[in-house]
Amino acid sequence: MEQNKLSQTIEDYLSLLYVLERDGEPIVGARLAELIGVTSPTVTNTLKRMTRDGLITMDDHGTHLTEHGWVSAKDVMRRHMLMEWMMLRMLPWSKLHGEAHHLEHAISPEAEAAVYEELGRPQTCPHGNPLPGCEAAVADWVPLTQLASGQKVTIRRVHELAEENPPLLAFLEEKKMMPGAQATLGEILPFNQTISVEVGGQLVTLGFAVARYIFVEQHTA
Ligand SMILES: [Zn+2]
Ligand SMILES: [Zn+2]
Repeated sequence: MEQNKLSQTIEDYLSLLYVLERDGEPIVGARLAELIGVTSPTVTNTLKRMTRDGLITMDDHGTHLTEHGWVSAKDVMRRHMLMEWMMLRMLPWSKLHGEAHHLEHAISPEAEAAVYEELGRPQTCPHGNPLPGCEAAVADWVPLTQLASGQKVTIRRVHELAEENPPLLAFLEEKKMMPGAQATLGEILPFNQTISVEVGGQLVTLGFAVARYIFVEQHTA
């Protein structure tokens, strides 16, 4: 087992690559550099190491996780999401992701299994993102950008890539735009790339770039 122990950096890359590949988004160095907050040459070096270690392939077809990479990435994601739940009663919602980033590398498989059972086998993280293998649980939720004005919804999910943005999470928490919140779509201004949403009697304006990362359940009645 020791030989499979991956470095923290590699595990952090794996979880990002997992999300991009799962969502069918291209894995591009510049985008990774932006998401991780490092320079492009640093990303290139890390991707080379990951290729050497058999976690990814890089060729004319792009950058993709190998089977080994997928298995390792799912493992990191699971641990990350369980650690978010574990800290939920102790930390503000907007801080869970950052804290779980530290803890996810340290937990043993035995403790991980115990936490999973203790939490009642959750299918999503506290941000509403699916545990690997539980994608069906979130399949019916649609991004705010696909809705019409006046629609009533329940906020269900703040996408993993939005979790990478601490000021955004703090903003959403302050506005109470978290999973479980009831909301009504207000004005949608395509020329301005903004959507306003009424949550808890308060009107919140979001840009499309953020709104597409917030998924909701539509109320049918
Ligand atoms: Zn997270
Ligand atoms: Zn999360």
